[in-house]
Amino acid sequence: MIVIGGGLAGLAAGVSLADSGWRVRLFEQRPFLGGRATSYILPDGEHVDNCQHVTLGCCTNLEDFYRRVGSAHKIKFFDRLVFLDVQGRRGEIKAGALPAPFHFAGSFASFAPLTLRDKLSIARAMFNILRHKGDPPDLHEANAISMLGWLRRRGQTKGAIDRFWRVVLVSALDEELDRTDARFGVDVFWKAFLSNSTGYRMGVPVVPLSNLYDGCKSEIERRGGEVVLRATVRGLKIENGQLTGVRFDENREESADAYIFAIPHTALAELLPESMKQSDPSLANLDKIKTSPITGVHFWFDRHVMDEPFLTLLDTTTQWIFNKSLFYQGADDQLKLAASCESENPSSFSVTRQSLATRHYLQLVISASYDLLQKSRQEIIDLCLAEVLHALPRARHAELVKATVIKEAAATFSPELGVDRWRPKQTTSIRGLFLAGDWTQTGWPATMEGAVRSGYLAAEALLGANGTPKTFLQPDLSPNGLLSG
Ligand SMILES: Cc1cc2nc3c(=O)[nH]c(=O)nc-3n(C[C@H](O)[C@H](O)[C@H](O)COP(=O)(O)OP(=O)(O)OC[C@H]3O[C@@H](n4cnc5c(N)ncnc54)[C@H](O)[C@@H]3O)c2cc1C
Repeated sequence: MIVIGGGLAGLAAGVSLADSGWRVRLFEQRPFLGGRATSYILPDGEHVDNCQHVTLGCCTNLEDFYRRVGSAHKIKFFDRLVFLDVQGRRGEIKAGALPAPFHFAGSFASFAPLTLRDKLSIARAMFNILRHKGDPPDLHEANAISMLGWLRRRGQTKGAIDRFWRVVLVSALDEELDRTDARFGVDVFWKAFLSNSTGYRMGVPVVPLSNLYDGCKSEIERRGGEVVLRATVRGLKIENGQLTGVRFDENREESADAYIFAIPHTALAELLPESMKQSDPSLANLDKIKTSPITGVHFWFDRHVMDEPFLTLLDTTTQWIFNKSLFYQGADDQLKLAASCESENPSSFSVTRQSLATRHYLQLVISASYDLLQKSRQEIIDLCLAEVLHALPRARHAELVKATVIKEAAATFSPELGVDRWRPKQTTSIRGLFLAGDWTQTGWPATMEGAVRSGYLAAEALLGANGTPKTFLQPDLSPNGLLSG
């Protein structure tokens, strides 16, 4: 069978099918695996993630995938989320001694950036989610309701919306509250914050993202399969209405019994011939799925500027600051990676080694960064640097050695109102054609967890159609504490 696309969706599908004894041939257009959740070397030799990626305790399928490919130990989990406002007030979210759903009661009560009125309004909305086990009835109204509308119905204060709901959800869903379907927003709070006391724990890779996929190629090859990089599928071969192959450059063709297309929906929409879109209505609406941007800003200072692993900033353009130097500290894999860079490009090694030894590397994330798309890179650097200097007093005495801005205009699909009706299932009505990708029907927003789920679901669909059904999908975390049973 053939998988097209070496992002998390394609890798999850490929590895799980290889595990089931299938000979998988995976074709990826870029020279490395991981898709959007990867890292690469900039022209100046610096190895950067395509933006910081984090996982949460509730992402059970991503965790399963990392275990399968031997990368679980490369993720470090943190159980304390720190928020900082421009007045310097700090708030913490950390599970305390009380059982779920009251595990945050202690840290929430002392959360300084929110007023008592804000907190009471948040508590009311949380009880509403709890009472309905994460599925309040108004999420099912004929006209989808936005997260902002849902919060306003529940009388949320401006402080609660701007300094709590928006902060968590824009990062989790990469969209503004007025454009987000409330179904996704409520689900984040149910799965990550209410139903289980470990669902919110934040997992951060302690290696560059591309190192997480080292085991995928060997898993696929172990079963006689292959991973082919720099292989761009340019078209489909259709004979008598059936998909019989895929076309590459120089008229090369490959064929198989089944195909999983695990490429972004925008790329698939361009590849699919009109006849296929007409024969399967679920393929006809891919262009209705909109996208939203994320901007990553990378700063290298000449000395130590930050102790916390990460900080969430309130009331600023910068949403998160990640302490990359801390994550990579002492990480063998990072040094191995630097060594492998050295053999290919000696100057990149010196940059990487120097960055580990003396410089302090921070990565800033701004989700739903519509306002930054028109700004120049220098304007973004100036804006974010001023915010970092305000938040991190030690940075005021440091020199900014280097800065890079990476704007992704189409970072994720937008979880806008009613988007689920445009997301196709992993099975199509075209024989042998299966789909994977965070944008397919997974119930999840555009996340690494959603991508892995889609890959597992596509593999299950393929095995089901072959008459050899198997389950790869992992269950959600079970409710615990007072909600268990
Ligand atoms: C800046 C940014 C920050 C993010 N932060 C987070 C985060 O913190 N946590 C989180 O969970 N998620 C995050 N995400 C979302 C996450 O990266 C994606 O949901 C996930 O990686 C999608 O995986 P995928 O396999 O569905 O798609 P992709 O990763 O896009 O993979 C598709 C692959 O198909 C390949 N391809 C495309 N066309 C062809 C072709 N014609 N032939 C061959 N190959 C082709 C592409 O090169 C790519 O490798 C972030 C995304 C971005 C962009």
